[in-house]
Amino acid sequence: MEKYSHDIVIVGAGLAGLRAAVAAVEVNDKLDIAVISKLHPLRSHSVCAQGGTAAVMRDKDSFELHAWDTVKGADYLADQDVVEFFVQRAPREIVKMDHYGCPWSRTPDGKIDQRPFGGHSYPRACFAADMTGFHEMHALYGKATSYDKVKFYDEWFATSLLVENNTIVGLTAIDLKTGEMHAFQAKAVIIATGGHERIYEFTTFSHTTTGDGMAMAYRVGVPLEDMEFVQFHPTGLVPSGVLITEGARGEGGYLLNANGERFMKRYAPEKMELAPRDVVSRAEQTEILEGRAFTGPYGPYIALDLRHLGEEKINERLPLIRDVAIKLGGVDPVKEVIPIRPAAHYSMGGIKANIRTETPISGLYAAGECSCLSLHGANRLGTNSTAECLVFGAVAGEEAAKYVASKSFKEMPHEKIAAEEKRVFDEVLGSEGGESVPALRDEMRRLMNAKAWIYRKGDDLESALKEVRELKKRFKNIKVEDKGKAFNTGFTAALQLDFMLDLAEVTVVSALARTESRGAHSRLDYPKRDDEKWLVHTLAYYTTDGPKLEYQPVTITKWQPAARKY
Ligand SMILES: Cc1cc2nc3c(=O)[nH]c(=O)nc-3n(C[C@H](O)[C@H](O)[C@H](O)COP(=O)(O)OP(=O)(O)OC[C@H]3O[C@@H](n4cnc5c(N)ncnc54)[C@H](O)[C@@H]3O)c2cc1C
Repeated sequence: MEKYSHDIVIVGAGLAGLRAAVAAVEVNDKLDIAVISKLHPLRSHSVCAQGGTAAVMRDKDSFELHAWDTVKGADYLADQDVVEFFVQRAPREIVKMDHYGCPWSRTPDGKIDQRPFGGHSYPRACFAADMTGFHEMHALYGKATSYDKVKFYDEWFATSLLVENNTIVGLTAIDLKTGEMHAFQAKAVIIATGGHERIYEFTTFSHTTTGDGMAMAYRVGVPLEDMEFVQFHPTGLVPSGVLITEGARGEGGYLLNANGERFMKRYAPEKMELAPRDVVSRAEQTEILEGRAFTGPYGPYIALDLRHLGEEKINERLPLIRDVAIKLGGVDPVKEVIPIRPAAHYSMGGIKANIRTETPISGLYAAGECSCLSLHGANRLGTNSTAECLVFGAVAGEEAAKYVASKSFKEMPHEKIAAEEKRVFDEVLGSEGGESVPALRDEMRRLMNAKAWIYRKGDDLESALKEVRELKKRFKNIKVEDKGKAFNTGFTAALQLDFMLDLAEVTVVSALARTESRGAHSRLDYPKRDDEKWLVHTLAYYTTDGPKLEYQPVTITKWQPAARKY
């Protein structure tokens, strides 16, 4: 085992991690910064972001309006001080990305163009055709790699955080090329490891979004906040789940049931297809449950109709969507409707962090989708996530850079490192039981789809909890067939499943406890929002017997909870 030392170690090289690296160097170019990523940075899920990044860029729009849309979209569970800060910082990020070389789509007079998105009352999604994340990532990666002081550890897998006296001292990571574990000593660590959507079977997310950083933080005592709130996106392509951007509806696409009816008129008469995602996903699920969906070889589906937009507009504004629909759905949206249904798409919950991205552990920061600063509350608006990654990635980099200025490296905890080696190599890789990792993983995903999906019920969630706990027991008895060292994907799949099982458990426990319906969390047995009891954030703490829940009030600055209509 070798020891590496860096002032700041960033885990994750998606939008949040890369933005943090650039921001930290801009505060102090003497700092020594490492970015660890289990993937090549340009394979992070952020490159898949399609539709846009929200920011106020026109006089007719306003911070007040963006903040209000976000708070209402969040079903009032967002911390409003965080929302107000976010909307004010977002435009600066769009301009910075422009300077870093992001090829924003433009209006004829050369301004950065903006398109409408669900729940936003002004067209404020800045976009680069329908490959926004791809272009943002390339621009940011180019910027980050231009600094000598940022060292990239590509294809290194972080396994645990090292904490002494409630202060971060470093972490352990496996170099996937050699299969060896090494220790990183750091004065500050920023977690930017993305979401955990792969706990579900039908999802728009990459196979690698397994919530590792959330689980690592949880295991060292940081609470996971609001994990019951999982976003379901209305338009996952059938059968793969690959995303068809909400931008397709932003450009004028319709949703139709099998009777050819634009059914959104019954659910959100004003906003129709551009109501927030929780509202549209519930509407689709209701159409499916009440037998008005199409039926096909891969189950029921809803039709997304873009035909009336015409070939020219589809090619100009939605080229990726046309390509994806043809290649993965077997339909050309110029001539045919696209078969879609709701898919798990985003984690509103995550590592508890404050407006400065600080977690309760000194020197440990969290930014991007893995974090919960409580910007999105119970439901995120489309295009607010990439904007969050940029705004709060920058905050994390700035805060960590300021923090390390007066700090020195701490002694590494050798027993903890030895215990982690034992866990990873003896108990996971070395386990000689009879259970298959892919089989356990698929069981977990199916059960989360069946029992912790869009509509939830107490008895389903109780049964899901029992099953997740059973899977956790069975995990102790796995066998990783390949015992090789270099790029052992069976081994990393086992480590990821171990993390995901913790996150599935926290999601179900938090959902079971919340006896109300708010945003993306819809309880059929508790169909109403209950502000008296539940205008609070859930905090799930790790214990050996499973998560222990506590609650914390929501920060309200201007907007008192009111009925939410679209
Ligand atoms: C198909 C799709 C389209 C989307 N479209 C939009 C959109 O148009 N607008 C919008 O605002 N949002 C969109 N989103 C959501 C948004 O893209 C994501 O929430 C956001 O990009 C997450 O960025 P991140 O930096 O937090 O994490 P990610 O981009 O997921 O990056 C995670 C990083 O962590 C690293 N990592 C993870 N675990 C480990 C480990 N154990 N060790 C080392 N490294 C690790 C990975 O290698 C990766 O570099 C979309 C999401 C999807 C799936």
